[in-house]
Amino acid sequence: MEFITLKCKNCNKKLMTYIPPGSRKYKSPLKTCKKCGTEYLDPRCHEIAAEGLPPDTYSITSNVIMGIVGGLILWRGLYLFTVHQFGTSENIQWLYPTVFTVMGIFCILCAIYQIIIILTGIKRKKFEKLRQESEERLQDYNYAKSLVSLGYSVPEEYL
Ligand SMILES: [Zn+2]
Repeated sequence: MEFITLKCKNCNKKLMTYIPPGSRKYKSPLKTCKKCGTEYLDPRCHEIAAEGLPPDTYSITSNVIMGIVGGLILWRGLYLFTVHQFGTSENIQWLYPTVFTVMGIFCILCAIYQIIIILTGIKRKKFEKLRQESEERLQDYNYAKSLVSLGYSVPEEYL
């Protein structure tokens, strides 16, 4: 994991620290430096109408895999509860098993939640709304031009 720090090109103010590719936020990547007002691109934010969605957005398989991985982590956690961990001090013997168990359950619940919202169409609806908002933003010629001038790739149809 490598942290990247983004600074304002104009005043050098620290704008953000993130781990690439960063979280996927589907909103405008165009931001302004709070100190000097210079525009910059937030690499964590994406215009769906320009970039589309990652191919695994509606993938059941990737969530099943996440569920299985979660299951393995949970299994490991439950196993660790039953054994003495050498090299770990007595009063924190509970720590690793607890962390693994919680992480495992969390992964499984996330996977189940994702599969439910994909199958019921809730996720598709949500992203369709985000895509429309993105399209509306890009239809503003000045907005699209600002993005391009900062190096963001905008489809021809908006320019
Ligand atoms: Zn600045």
